[in-house]
Amino acid sequence: MKAIPYGKQSVTEDDIHAVIDVLKSDFWTQGPKIKEFEDAFASYVGSKYAIAVSNGTAALHLCTMALNVKPGDKVITSPITFVASANCVRYCGGEVIFADIDRETYLLDVNEVRKQLEADLNREIKGIIPVDFAGRVVNMEEFRKLADEFNCWIIEDACHAPGGSFNNSKGEKIFAGSGMYTDLAIFSFHPVKHIAAGEGGMITTNNKDLYDKLLILRTHGIQQNAALRIYDDSLWYYEMQELGYNYRLTDIQAALGNSQLKRANEGLEKRREIAKIYKEAFSGNHNIKDRNEGQSEHHAYHLYVIEVNHRKELHKYLREKGIFSQIHYIPAHLMPYYRQLGWEPGVLPNAEDYYSCCISLPMYPTLLLDEQMFVLNNMNHFISDYIK
Ligand SMILES: *Cc1c(COP(=O)(O)O)cnc(C)c1O
Repeated sequence: MKAIPYGKQSVTEDDIHAVIDVLKSDFWTQGPKIKEFEDAFASYVGSKYAIAVSNGTAALHLCTMALNVKPGDKVITSPITFVASANCVRYCGGEVIFADIDRETYLLDVNEVRKQLEADLNREIKGIIPVDFAGRVVNMEEFRKLADEFNCWIIEDACHAPGGSFNNSKGEKIFAGSGMYTDLAIFSFHPVKHIAAGEGGMITTNNKDLYDKLLILRTHGIQQNAALRIYDDSLWYYEMQELGYNYRLTDIQAALGNSQLKRANEGLEKRREIAKIYKEAFSGNHNIKDRNEGQSEHHAYHLYVIEVNHRKELHKYLREKGIFSQIHYIPAHLMPYYRQLGWEPGVLPNAEDYYSCCISLPMYPTLLLDEQMFVLNNMNHFISDYIK
């Protein structure tokens, strides 16, 4: 049997042709495919605006820039995320405050965030970056209420959850990145994510001012709209108004991303079917703690995380069989970089306890049933040989 990774991209003939068409066209970057992808993506998540950028990390950086994070500012995020969710605060010289996760959902705990905000007497905390970890979407309505109370902004790190949702207090289905309760949301098109473009990212928002600002920051701070230039209106004139970056996406990547987006819902369905099979297989198994919801209409199942004792041995055992499970994530506050900034083990007990036993099983739309059975059989072998 071929190696089974924890996540994997897929490609179709349509994807390949979409890329070839761009290669044969006049525009390899900043051509028509960017806007096409942005419009389709905004409509997929239900936001007013979308801005395509070079990767998810660039998306986060542009968001913290657009929200004016500066030295002395503090921003709260989850320790159970990819380090980029925190690093974007550091890029702007701000300080990261990690608040603990909810032990059941693995998401940033709104009560822990409240504690931090209440203790912040000088009002140095400016924003919150909740993460839709594993594809489970954070209840942003709750976070919005809290953020409003303390005059904070919200960036939703929705990299794991395109197509995922939660129900608000009125019972309405609110999609990740819709901007209903958040200021900005970000996505990634790294090959391991739901929609892959090689590298790539997207910011979504309903805020026109932030949208206009992000467009400028994405391309060196140069004002694209001639009417908004300060000094000149000649046809050859361009005007850099702020210090920005080159965080553009190419048309080649946008065409691939847009082609992948067309089957995003199909992929989501497949992920939910895979989740259902795992959930059923693990139910009643006291050696495996499976806190997933099974075939949820909300969960985007970027990852299928379970908790086990002997996690290290299981990881190694599966690896020897060609099954490459993965650990998501090493708590960000335990990284040497953040330790050097004062963080140390013991301060976020839920995150650290979670990390001691979590493991992500293979989860991607092209995972075949017999491959999933192979994974499950090997887990059973492991349990009967090593645990019982
Ligand atoms: C992938 C990911 C990122 C970063 O995206 P890149 O495109 O790799 O820069 C940020 N946050 C989370 C939660 C991610 O999974």
